Amino acid sequence: MSGVAEDVGLPSANAPHRRAVLRALLWLTIGCGIFFASVNITVGNHPVAAAELAMAAYAGVLMYVVRRPGIHLDRWILAYLIPFCTTMMFACWYRRAEPTVFVWPILIPVISYLLLGRRGGFWFTLVFLCISLAIFVVKISETGQIYAIAAIANVLLCAACIFGLSHAYEVTREQAEARLRALALRDPLTGLCNRAGLSEAFRLQYAQAARYGTSLSAVLIDLDHFKRINDKYGHETGDKVLISFAECLTNTLRESDLACRLGGEEFALMLPRTGLAEARQTAERLRSAIAAARCEHNGHEISITATLGVAELDPDSDDLQSLLARADERLYRGKNAGRDRVVAAGASGYRPHNAIEHATLAPHRRNNECVRRSSPTVG
Ligand code: GH3
Ligand code: MG
Ligand code: MG
Repeated sequence: MSGVAEDVGLPSANAPHRRAVLRALLWLTIGCGIFFASVNITVGNHPVAAAELAMAAYAGVLMYVVRRPGIHLDRWILAYLIPFCTTMMFACWYRRAEPTVFVWPILIPVISYLLLGRRGGFWFTLVFLCISLAIFVVKISETGQIYAIAAIANVLLCAACIFGLSHAYEVTREQAEARLRALALRDPLTGLCNRAGLSEAFRLQYAQAARYGTSLSAVLIDLDHFKRINDKYGHETGDKVLISFAECLTNTLRESDLACRLGGEEFALMLPRTGLAEARQTAERLRSAIAAARCEHNGHEISITATLGVAELDPDSDDLQSLLARADERLYRGKNAGRDRVVAAGASGYRPHNAIEHATLAPHRRNNECVRRSSPTVG
């Protein structure tokens, strides 16, 4: 999953939207519950009035609960929807209820899809619409009215239309949201996460590292003398080298690692469950893979090198900024020490014995294609 924003388990962007819808519904439930309970008390429908008042009181309690940050919203949504729809079914089933009470179940698809999303909304709607239709059919059959078939068809078709439209709306909404999230969290050139994607992913990885006491390391990568590639071969070729480099990153890293493009020719890696020593080894493996790779363009074979700074998270004192700042400081020591190297700690840099001083731009005759060579082993 390295580098792909949707795959990093980013938190749902729906949570604030669903919380707002839930709170609006809770207010409506309190208001409507009190209003209908008063009406039902005046006409003597005491059981329905009691259920409505109980639902209004329960909605008041939920209103207080869902304000608190950090609650498991999905559970509380179900804790609202199940009693709410059950009260509705009871009102429909009640012998003395007005026939127009059956307009209320038509709301079920809209509310369920808004609060539960596509899958949850579908099953919730299916169950409660089937129950309310069954109640409707039983009640209208009992009246023995001549128009019973037409009435059932009207209600059934209306419910089916609203169900279908709610489903179609939610499917297209989810697709649009996924596209927007990909645009917001991804670098368009390389397809890797961008800085915003890194921040979101870091929040989750940090929480896991702090909770389970696992390590987390960051690697900052800056391509060496990249300006020379642009100057010599043009910006378009520079872009192709960046794309090829991003592929090299995703091919070399583990599934659980995350690669991001911070901007220009600067990249960052987040390596969960990885301590400093292991992160340094990964960075070294990457460094030698980069140095061995060749990008071919218009008959030129282009090679690059990179300098990498590695730092391990200290969950007690680090945030993303301070972790990256430490890695950055090491990266720049690597640059000053001659580039094409990994610096992981302390004052002295880690220099592999086969490191070269700076980027090699080797002209070669082949086409516009980027290939990797086998990497020399670095001890
Ligand atoms: P150093 O080894 O010190 O990092 O040298 P450098 O040339 O890599 O660094 P410098 O910061 O001087 O130049 C970075 C270059 O990266 C300059 C800019 O033209 C190039 N660059 C930044 N973003 C892009 C991009 O999206 N596409 C291309 N082709 N080039 C880019
Ligand atoms: Mg740079
Ligand atoms: Mg650079």
